[in-house]
Amino acid sequence: MQIFKFGGASVKNAECIKNVATILQLFVDVKKVVVISAIGKTTNRLENAINLFVNKDEKYLENFNEIYQEHVNIAKDLAIPETDNLYIELNLFLSQTLAFLTNNKNNSYTFIYDQVVPLGEFFSTLLVSSYLNKCGLNTIWIDAREMISTNSNFTEAKVNFEITTLKIKSKIDEKKLSKNIILTQGFIGRNEMGFSTTLGREGSDYTASVLAFCLDAQKVVIWKDVPAVLNSDPRLFSDTIKLEKLSYSEAIEMTYYGAQVIHPKTIKPLQNKNIPLQVRSFLDLAEEGTMIGQLDKKDAIHYPPIIVYKVNQALISISVKDFSFVTEDNMSIICQCFSQNGMRMNMIHSGAISFSVCTEYKDERTKALIKELKKDFEVKYNINLELLTIRHYTEEKIDELTKGKEILLQEKTRNTIQILMRKR
Ligand code: ASP
Ligand code: MG
Repeated sequence: MQIFKFGGASVKNAECIKNVATILQLFVDVKKVVVISAIGKTTNRLENAINLFVNKDEKYLENFNEIYQEHVNIAKDLAIPETDNLYIELNLFLSQTLAFLTNNKNNSYTFIYDQVVPLGEFFSTLLVSSYLNKCGLNTIWIDAREMISTNSNFTEAKVNFEITTLKIKSKIDEKKLSKNIILTQGFIGRNEMGFSTTLGREGSDYTASVLAFCLDAQKVVIWKDVPAVLNSDPRLFSDTIKLEKLSYSEAIEMTYYGAQVIHPKTIKPLQNKNIPLQVRSFLDLAEEGTMIGQLDKKDAIHYPPIIVYKVNQALISISVKDFSFVTEDNMSIICQCFSQNGMRMNMIHSGAISFSVCTEYKDERTKALIKELKKDFEVKYNINLELLTIRHYTEEKIDELTKGKEILLQEKTRNTIQILMRKR
């Protein structure tokens, strides 16, 4: 049994969804669970709609309707007949979400976010499931929230593997797998109180990995619009190198630092059960892509410099209001603030009177975080910064990539260098 994961780019329009059906047809003999994310940039657009809503801008309704209409249009492009239940289901999920927004009394941004943003995943999986069934590929649609059980850390919820394993096994069995494709959403789960949660942006890869772990899958395949895992982002760098094999630990490191090719939480569960992960192109089926797994000593790889480059970073400097030292208990308050606001610390520096954290600048969430921090601390921040990480760095590579930049913070270990910088 294998887990296939298709991301937003692989289902972004009718043509792409047809391609997914073709791939699934090619692998009819493989028992599989298919995980699908929201179409194209739907999640970003839902985030915008949520921001409008929390800022009391009525335009949010228009945004929701546009997103809904786009899915209906794709369904029509796929010639899904008007009598298909799909149209009723899309409408139902939209109405439920809008009703939630109207009736909700809880002001927490991350809570609201998690009740709304799964809509993208529901829309896409309902659509793809209808289409696959129409093509004669028997598909069973499952609400991932009935399988993935999490805590209540909204926007970065943690999976409870024990409960999740039981739930997954109760929903997916050999009998179903032998006759059907099981199709579900990535990225989403449910807490004990029955509220929706999300696992972190781009978290569908992680869902695929959780399913693989709980079902003891033979393999996970992540279908992407790149030929393989590369040593840097091909949208930013021209001289990329394809990585044919990667050890679990190298994959963990590079994704931890932000290589966007796979979600950082994906690898660990697979490593624990020694389940290989293949990253391959949905556009070029002749390409085998990258195999991530346990490498023998004889396979020891000499990696080229692996570059992760992130823009839109903020450096937040936090000091105690009476200018005393930032002590361990202060740090613990600061860390909690980040965690509760769903913000990650990409790099930290602890000085005598201030504690600095580099984090991604995310409008509403960063504002909420800073407001929270200001209750206890003096807070200053810089935005529009770039964070460069190089694994297996060379001095030439560092020089090349920092030319013309002002360096604000730097940290170097034997294998990795991280540099926070901005244009001069
Ligand atoms: N749709 C979600 C996102 O865009 C999850 C995913 O794509 O993996 O973040
Ligand atoms: Mg995505």
